[in-house]
Amino acid sequence: MINTAYRGRFAPSPTGLLHAGSLTTAVGSYLEARSRGGEWWVRMEDLDPPREVPGAADAILHTLEAFGFQWDGEIVYQSRRHALYRAALQQLIENGRAYPCACTRKEIAAAAARGVDGPVYPGTCRRGLPAGREGRAWRLRVEDRELLLQDRLQGEYRQNLAHDTGDVVLLRADGFWAYQLAVVVDDAEQGMTDIVRGADLLVSTPRQLWVQQCLGLPKPGYCHLPVMVNADGEKLSKQTLAPAIGEADIDSQLRLALIRLGHRPPADCHGRDELWQWALAHWSLSRVSSGPVTV
Ligand code: GLU
Repeated sequence: MINTAYRGRFAPSPTGLLHAGSLTTAVGSYLEARSRGGEWWVRMEDLDPPREVPGAADAILHTLEAFGFQWDGEIVYQSRRHALYRAALQQLIENGRAYPCACTRKEIAAAAARGVDGPVYPGTCRRGLPAGREGRAWRLRVEDRELLLQDRLQGEYRQNLAHDTGDVVLLRADGFWAYQLAVVVDDAEQGMTDIVRGADLLVSTPRQLWVQQCLGLPKPGYCHLPVMVNADGEKLSKQTLAPAIGEADIDSQLRLALIRLGHRPPADCHGRDELWQWALAHWSLSRVSSGPVTV
């Protein structure tokens, strides 16, 4: 039975191939959606061409298919949705929330305190561009108050954006849309009710809640799955040279992903489809660790 009250998604960026961390996130978000009779969509977050790896988008989809993921609807590509982001920025400009910013990275780094995710924007262009300077990026004004997230796995998480990040970039100085804007616009436009993703994105969520509020969009539920770390405690990523998931030995890779999410299939459960069946029947978020899992 399809539960239209639940719609989730997996939103990979084609900046590399899937690795054990992103595969595990995909498995968790899929099982959470399907075990609740919900929909599960795939959205390709291809908004950062300089960081993209040619062929990665297709390779990711191919790997998901080989692992037996079945998604609803058409794959959504952010690179085809510029008009939506443009309209959202326009709305934020019209309601006085967004302003142009002339600062370079270097200027910000020199003037800023360290925040939760890089420098805290010091507000240089908040009250207008300095004389003789041109806007390079667009930013969203934040307020000096606490935003509270109630995460289904991580519990309460709080930030005060004025102290933790400063005004949020919406359109980057290099002309590309910022993740924080696009993800909010897309999740709302696609009717996502539940965001299940890696805990590395917890730090971004208060900014997304704020973008939602300023655009008058509904707030989905959030659940941040544990990050996968290597023996040195570093998050698996392209930067830490996490090996790509191949399409050989799918059964053991799927089994490992389930184990990392606290679900150990019985030894006599064999084959991709049997593993999925077992996982769907046994999935419970209460077995998933909130803290990092060493791979
Ligand atoms: N595209 C983001 C990533 O690959 C995930 C975005 C999200 O799930 O909100 O890290």
